[in-house]
Amino acid sequence: IDFGFRTVARTEKQGLVRNVFDSVAGRYDLMNDLMSAGTHRLWKDSLIHTLRPHAHETFLDVAGGTGDIAFRIANAAPGAQITVSDINEAMLAEGRRRADKRGLDLDWVTANAETLPFPDASFNAYTIAFGIRNVTDRMAALREARRVLKPGGRFLCLEFSQLAIKPLDRLYERYSFAVIPRIGQMIAGDRESYQYLVESIRQFPGPDQFAGMMRDAGFAHARYRRMTGGVVALHSGRKL
Ligand code: SAM
Repeated sequence: IDFGFRTVARTEKQGLVRNVFDSVAGRYDLMNDLMSAGTHRLWKDSLIHTLRPHAHETFLDVAGGTGDIAFRIANAAPGAQITVSDINEAMLAEGRRRADKRGLDLDWVTANAETLPFPDASFNAYTIAFGIRNVTDRMAALREARRVLKPGGRFLCLEFSQLAIKPLDRLYERYSFAVIPRIGQMIAGDRESYQYLVESIRQFPGPDQFAGMMRDAGFAHARYRRMTGGVVALHSGRKL
């Protein structure tokens, strides 16, 4: 992966991603709130609003971490069957603790988004929030998403994106590089991993390009909606 000023190999990338989430699992909400000024809650609510979950449906939340998306689905559709999967055990363990506290019964599965351990056509909806950016082989993850969806099933992906207005995007880039690694240093004592996170946001494909990747993976109706001026984009598609 070429970030311009240094090259990060695939294994190093996976190591960095693991470090970030190992070091932050317990303070994950605090980090999110600080880095997005609380806005991540609204973005996640917006994903659920678009998803419109029903109790009779089955849901898979990939890179589900500590359960933020899954808990929202459970609130909106009590009784729905929800599986949370993530590559990082520490994040899932924290999620399980939170689910127990809330009295929620969800399935928690350790898995890489690139190779999901579920049969074909298992779920009505696949969600991934702030996760796909960390996946090394994104096309593999998209193909897996389509594989595990039932015909008619929906794919929803929330991810950091590029601001629609170019000069603002350049300011935003400067803000991110100046501020986020410092917050990482203060809260998690880990500057380098947060530097990586900012770089990963900047080198993630633009929303049109990502919609094109969804089409290449076989999704129909691939489209996106920008939020907060393009700080994040919500992509959606359907398996026909
Ligand atoms: N979806 C949750 C949320 O919005 O609060 C967590 C998002 S967190 C920023 C990113 C998550 O992606 C982490 O829990 C990390 O372990 C997970 N992750 C990174 N690479 C992954 C991969 N290849 N497969 C599955 N999960 C992955």
